[in-house]
Amino acid sequence: MAVPFLDLSAMHAEVAAEIDGAWRYVIGTNRFVGGPAVDAFEAEWAAYCGTRHCVGVSSGTAALELALAALGIGPGAEVVLPANTFIATASAVVAAGAMPVFADVDPETLLLTPETIRPQLTSRTAAIIAVHLFGQPADMDAINALAEQCGLCVIEDAAQAHGATWRGRRAGSLSRVGCFSFYPGKNLGAFGDAGAVVTDDVILADRIRAMSNHGRQGNDPYQHDILGGNHRLDALQAAVLSVKLRRLDNWNAARRHAASIYATALKGLPVRMVRVAPDAESSYHLAVIRATARDALRSALAAAGIGTGIHYPIPCHLQAPFRSVQQVPLPAAERAAREVLSLPIYPHISDAQLREVAGTVAEIVAEPIIPRIGAG
Ligand SMILES: *Cc1c(COP(=O)(O)O)cnc(C)c1O
Repeated sequence: MAVPFLDLSAMHAEVAAEIDGAWRYVIGTNRFVGGPAVDAFEAEWAAYCGTRHCVGVSSGTAALELALAALGIGPGAEVVLPANTFIATASAVVAAGAMPVFADVDPETLLLTPETIRPQLTSRTAAIIAVHLFGQPADMDAINALAEQCGLCVIEDAAQAHGATWRGRRAGSLSRVGCFSFYPGKNLGAFGDAGAVVTDDVILADRIRAMSNHGRQGNDPYQHDILGGNHRLDALQAAVLSVKLRRLDNWNAARRHAASIYATALKGLPVRMVRVAPDAESSYHLAVIRATARDALRSALAAAGIGTGIHYPIPCHLQAPFRSVQQVPLPAAERAAREVLSLPIYPHISDAQLREVAGTVAEIVAEPIIPRIGAG
């Protein structure tokens, strides 16, 4: 049985009729950028995250860039972020005009901690971006406490953590400002690019909204007190997101079920799932295992028809644009890059598929350690 790394067709089938209706309604309103569908989704997403405000934007990358710019983080400022993240977290810092400073991560959770952030702080540090990698929120109580001590802003990159919680509170609501991507493959995905920023701070929300729309504020579309760009959310995407949001909790529960099947099936084998802290509830955007012979395992799985991913094979500080900037070794992030392997996970993956994946992993990794009786 072949198991693709990601298959959204069953998800699409579940929502297709409802999205057809929602799109017909949007087309009837003649409001394609902003308008009631965007307003409705923003209100729903803020309520879901437990924040006062949400600004829909064009992508997760735009959300990060706008959050940084609206906080006044630009030239001369340093921003500490984990090395093992998608490159967008780092490139958003550069786009804002600031300098990314990569930190190592906890070797088990692969997330930033005060201990890994502290060595990277300088007099120029202005902000920390905590990335809730694979769906697991970082310890935001500890990170916020450190930031408060040092007078730093905290931004969450929650692009992989829709609906995940830390001590019962949702990702995105755990710091000054939370940034989401609704790229199609994320836990909540649009039919194209989309993103959002959530915050309790009305002044920050208004500034982000203005900067996402050429600096427009209030009702006069041709008065620009500040400059911005075009990073708006469109109404067709907002309508998709509203329909899918009603299913997000069920879909995340299905992902947790899938992860628990993997965890149980892999017990006792020389591979293990990335650790989730007891205070965190992961949204399992990715189901990631650690394996020392990762590349051989990946090839053997591919030969058996099982798709996998690597998130991420090269840590940001070793990518070409940053290699010359930061030379300090970040051993936990570098080791993770050699060992992580993402197994298929999506809400509609079947138990049979999960057992096939887990069983095939078990067969492959168990082989070399079977005692060779009589081999002398
Ligand atoms: C997907 C992702 C982004 C970027 O989101 P886009 O919508 O693709 O711009 C940023 N950070 C992380 C951790 C992501 O997974």
